[in-house]
Amino acid sequence: MNDCIFCRIIKGEIPSKKVYEDDLIVAIEDIAPKAPLHLLLIPKQHFSNCLDMQKQHEATVGHVFRIAGKLATERGLSEGGFRLVQNNGEAAGQSVFHLHIHLLAGRELQWPPG
Ligand code: 5GP
Ligand code: ZN
Repeated sequence: MNDCIFCRIIKGEIPSKKVYEDDLIVAIEDIAPKAPLHLLLIPKQHFSNCLDMQKQHEATVGHVFRIAGKLATERGLSEGGFRLVQNNGEAAGQSVFHLHIHLLAGRELQWPPG
């Protein structure tokens, strides 16, 4: 989608700090980090969130979770822990309507989240 920030990042039209890329997804550093480590894992296919998800997206979403584990392990987080977050809708805090998973770590993470 032409007016989607994450589609434009994926196309290279908007710069980002990319830490991982393969055929299905990219992972970038969040521009306004909410924790010392704050990555965004973004499928290359555009769909807004869980509500917009089709059967054809399932494999990509599974892939996102496996790569999140890999990126966390590479950063020494397999024992200390990390959090994956995905917001659905404005009321839940979603501001970019292209599905993405936040990977947060490096500080104490409260539960339940606010
Ligand atoms: P949401 O609020 O939709 O769950 O998360 C969107 C995230 O995208 C936010 O954490 C925000 O800081 C991040 N973000 C918004 N615009 C950009 C951008 O242009 N570049 C990067 N790297 N992150 C962005
Ligand atoms: Zn998009």
